[in-house]
Amino acid sequence: MNLRVPGPTPCSPEVLAAVGRQMINHRSPEMGEIVQRITENLQSFLATERDFLLVTTSGSGGLEAAVVNTLSAGDRVLGVDAGAFGKRFCSIAETYGADLIRLELEWGQAVQPEQIRQALREEPEIRAVLLTHNETSTGVTHPLEKICNTIRAESDALILVDAVSSLGALPLPVDAWGIDLVVTGSQKAWGTPPGLAMMGVGARAWEAHQRSTLPRFYFDLARYRDAARKGFPFTPAVSVFYGLDTALALMVEEGPDAVYARHARIGSRVREGIQSLGLSLFADPRFASNTVTAVNVPEDLDGKELARVLREDYDTVIGAGQAHFAGRIFRIGHMGWVSEDDVNQALAALERALSDLRRR
Ligand SMILES: *Cc1c(COP(=O)(O)O)cnc(C)c1O
Repeated sequence: MNLRVPGPTPCSPEVLAAVGRQMINHRSPEMGEIVQRITENLQSFLATERDFLLVTTSGSGGLEAAVVNTLSAGDRVLGVDAGAFGKRFCSIAETYGADLIRLELEWGQAVQPEQIRQALREEPEIRAVLLTHNETSTGVTHPLEKICNTIRAESDALILVDAVSSLGALPLPVDAWGIDLVVTGSQKAWGTPPGLAMMGVGARAWEAHQRSTLPRFYFDLARYRDAARKGFPFTPAVSVFYGLDTALALMVEEGPDAVYARHARIGSRVREGIQSLGLSLFADPRFASNTVTAVNVPEDLDGKELARVLREDYDTVIGAGQAHFAGRIFRIGHMGWVSEDDVNQALAALERALSDLRRR
């Protein structure tokens, strides 16, 4: 099956073999070595020395952890809502009582540094900014470097970044861009099964942790920071640790620059292939994502039918549109363990499915 949803992404045979290994005691030197190797490989791949904590949860759990570890009820927070995941990050902060100022954008658009500057000038008390690096629901990569530079020039607000569908596939120098806390998930660009959120916590986020008064127990990041010394706070997803350990070793071997270049090449290949089929791209082309492509469903076709024919007749699974874009767009995932062949096959399947549907 050609699984082309934007997560969970396919896993390499090496990763699949690793996750099938027997359990070990999660409080053992052996597990300690796995955690240490994962942490060091994450830090080396991302060229940072900041803490990377491994929390057994999905990407959304990681976003909740980012909120409860740095904010307090009543904190004024600026959130960018440019799609389903930006909206989710905003909702989490609101659920915990943040005084949220929502910068809402039309789906398919990228937030501009100028809009952030204006919002920060209007509200000088903003304590944190919630950003999505790559909005998976629309296939947009926001211009994060410029946005972060703008925030740093205007305020001391904490920068919390959802990089669930970008870290590991798109260049993201977390320290140079001044990102205080970054969240990613095992099942996206890391080519590993779902189950782990990886949280890169910078010094300013740890300071915020000390001041923050939101309730937290399972997601208290201090427990995970101390895990190296005290052992795991809770039973971790041991098999997913095996998988991530293997996937990261392969990524480090390929090298970050090669991984990023592969994603850039495959991203352009998908956009070019889609357009040569006469289909149109949904996202603002200046901000098109190299990990997921959103495509407008042509007027004469039914998006659900297209997905069904692809699945049943061509063994190819695509992502549906989310929220009010259900049936109006479809999405092709191309992150993690993905090759040019994989996307070429998906494009060929799409070409045949389109012609089948139009012949009926
Ligand atoms: C997938 C995704 C999430 C949510 O992750 P879950 O693992 O489904 O909870 C959050 N943000 C972005 C940008 C994503 O792509």
